[in-house]
Amino acid sequence: MDSDMTFSIIKPDAVSRGYTGQILSRITDSGFAIAALRMLWLTRQQAEDFYSVHRERGFYKGLVEFMSSGPVIVTVLRKANAVEEFRRLIGSTDPAKAEKGTIRADFATDVQKNAVHGSDSPENARREASFFFPAIEIF
Ligand code: UDP
Ligand code: MG
Repeated sequence: MDSDMTFSIIKPDAVSRGYTGQILSRITDSGFAIAALRMLWLTRQQAEDFYSVHRERGFYKGLVEFMSSGPVIVTVLRKANAVEEFRRLIGSTDPAKAEKGTIRADFATDVQKNAVHGSDSPENARREASFFFPAIEIF
């Protein structure tokens, strides 16, 4: 896994509302190649571990509850400068503040149910991808 990769989750709100296909199209239309992809339902423990950096935050409990409330799509994505480019494509955490045309502006519900996750650094992309995929399954 190099710095031209990032990790993403299509979150339970977007999957349950039927946006998986449209969001994946936005991603590939923006020049990202899918390097790995799986659908799964996180246990509460897995959601706690994935978001452990946020465990002291007030929103942590609700976030864990939400992320384990239904199936998600986890992907590893490949593009030059992937982490930054993907954060630009998804927009601000709060969809009310997300730039027009971003995935969160168009598909998110609120600051918690915000449709997608994107890694915030190449180091975290590596950590997050390895949480779900062995190296042999990242193409
Ligand atoms: N979140 C929330 N309330 C907040 C801030 C964040 O529920 O006030 C949730 C939201 O789903 C967000 C996730 O916690 O995507 C992780 O927060 P972070 O600040 O890392 O935002 P992101 O990197 O996803 O934009
Ligand atoms: Mg983050």
